[in-house]
Order: sequence, then C-alpha cells, then structure tokens
Amino acid sequence: MTPLLDSQHWRDVPFHFWSVCWFILGSMVGSFLNVCIHRMPRGLSVVHPPSHCPHCASRIPWYLNIPLFTWLLLRGKCVQCKAPIHVRYFAVELLTGVLFLITWNVMGPLSIGWALTYATILSGFLVATLIDFEHFIIPDQITLGGMGAGLVFSLVLPALHGTEDHITSLGRSAAGAVIGLLLVYGIVRLGKLLFGKLHIALPDKAKLVFTETALILPEETIPYEELFYRKTDCIRFHATRLELVDRCYAGVEVRISPRQLRIDDESMDPEDVSFMEAVCDSITLPREAMGLGDVKFMGAIGAFLGWHATFFSLMISSLIGASLGVSLILIGRRDWSSRLPYGPYIALAAVVWMFMPEAWQAIWKGHLDDLASVIHPGR
Ligand SMILES: [Zn+2]
Repeated sequence: MTPLLDSQHWRDVPFHFWSVCWFILGSMVGSFLNVCIHRMPRGLSVVHPPSHCPHCASRIPWYLNIPLFTWLLLRGKCVQCKAPIHVRYFAVELLTGVLFLITWNVMGPLSIGWALTYATILSGFLVATLIDFEHFIIPDQITLGGMGAGLVFSLVLPALHGTEDHITSLGRSAAGAVIGLLLVYGIVRLGKLLFGKLHIALPDKAKLVFTETALILPEETIPYEELFYRKTDCIRFHATRLELVDRCYAGVEVRISPRQLRIDDESMDPEDVSFMEAVCDSITLPREAMGLGDVKFMGAIGAFLGWHATFFSLMISSLIGASLGVSLILIGRRDWSSRLPYGPYIALAAVVWMFMPEAWQAIWKGHLDDLASVIHPGR
C-alpha cells in the first residue's frame, strides 16, 4: 500500500506542516485579491486579461508571479519597464498569508470546513475594506457574491448555523441575509431622517461632473440612487464655474433635488439637463455614512454568520465608528471622518464576532432570542 493513501500516514503529519501550507495558500490567494482590489471597482474582469504590468502592459510570466518572492526579488519594480510596483501588492499577499495562518491555527483543530469558511470570509473582508477606503464603494461581486457564497457554504457546512441539518442551515443563512439587509437599510433610512446632510471639503478647484446616472467627485462616484431617497433630499454647492450642455455660468449657487435644479434664481427640470460640470471647493450631500453597499455587505455577513451576528456587527461597528470619530475630534482632525467609509467597521466588528469565544456568542444569542420572543411571542 502506498503511504499516500494511508490515512494514518496523513494523521502523523505535524499540524504545523499544514500551518506552513496555509500560509503559502494565503499568499497565493492574496495575489488574486490584489487583482480584485485593482480591477473590481474599475469594472474590469478579474480573470481576463492575465496578470500584466499596469504601466507597460507586458504580461507577467508565471515564474515571475510567485507571491511575496517576486516583489522582493525585483525590489518592487516591473522587470520590463522598471516602473515601481506599489508596496500594497506585497503587503496584501503577506497579510492574507498571515490571516490564513491564524485561521488555520484557530479553526483548523475544529474542522477544515470551518477554516476554509473563515478564510473565505476574511478574504472578502480584506478586498471590501481596501476598495471601500479607496473608492467609497463595496463592489456587488463582494456583497451579492458574498451572499451567494454564504448560502452555499451554509448548505454544505450546517455547523455554521449550529445544526446538523443542511436545509435548516440554508434557511438560517437566508434569514440571516434578509435580516442583515433590512437592518442596515432601516438604519440608512433612519439616518437620513435624523441627520440628512454631509458636508465634504473638496481639493482646491475640484471638478464635479453630473452625468445622467451619477455624481462624479474627484475621488468617488456616487449613483443618484444613493443620494436621493426622498424628494426633499438636496445637493448644494457654490460653483465658481458651471457648464451645461448649451450654456455656462460663473459664481452661482446650485441646488439639486430629484425634482428641481436651481441655479441662483433660475429653476429647471433636472430631466432636461443631461450633463453638467462644475468647479467648486466644497459640496453638501444628502448622505449618511452608510450607503446601499453597506446594506448588501451586511446581507452577506448574515448569510455566512446568521442573523444574531448582524445585530452584533451593527452595534460593535457603531461603537468603533463613534470612538474613532471622538479620537479624530480630540486630535483636531474632525474633517477626516467624512473621508472614512463605514464598511471596514462592519467587517472589523464581524471579525470580532467570528473569533469570540462560543460561550460569549451564546450569551448574545440568548439575549436576542429573549427579545425576539417578547416581540413575537409565537416563536
Ligand atoms: Zn512594466
């Protein structure tokens, strides 16, 4: 009998041999996450074309596409054009390797299924966080894709939802997704009702472009559906220069709501204006910290971790956000808070949940179940 097929032989392999394997696997996954982080927010495919230098577009052959080593070997430069390759590529590979290593050491003794699930979730969180910081969006591939993946993982691994029955687990996963979606959607709507406005300072002489579907700021693009929830929601700014398709203004106050575009005292129907470009220094948006991306993101968390975890993530993320906000005020950097996305707080809070002792999770679940039975006594 060959030793490869002997299960006893595999059981004798030291645990930390697998630790090393998980680290290597993680750094390879990290190399793919780098592609996701660069391409997803730009609407590019993550599989095609194959790895290439963003500067000179030369293909990167497989032997120069080895995680961690390549970057060190080439000292962070493209082999063809010598253009620098950002240290983030190396950092993401290293971080993913370390996250996989930790996951294996914490969840591996439980089961390989748990370790794979956690590694998948952490990979998604890493991509979502880095994209959210840079572009203020979480792509649908991560959020909607995450919801789909959550359902599949729950069907395959019912232990994720504390059961042995695959269909029960799928049901709990679906319930988690729906409750996660509704919960954050409710908060977004409520936030608009309570606060409503967000003032953003823009770089000097920044250019704003209003297309038919979205507002393009220097560092982010916001679809109108994320800006206008109510008819009274209004974008306001002072334009030093304002260009429409057929005319041009200088030094005007602009107010835009779903029904009306006002330029100083002139009023027109936004439907008639297909394109508008403005130069200004600041803008007031009808927007809360959380957006529809966060709604879908919480749906994905619910699909993987169940509805109890969505309430936990929401509460802990708001605590993290609030303490960071207070810290920024204390160091006199309050303006930074408008430049911080909310998605990473949600991800961090969910990570706290994932690695929290099971007994603590049980306490939280118990309290929420008590609360649910008060609201809904039939259950
Ligand atoms: Zn190059």
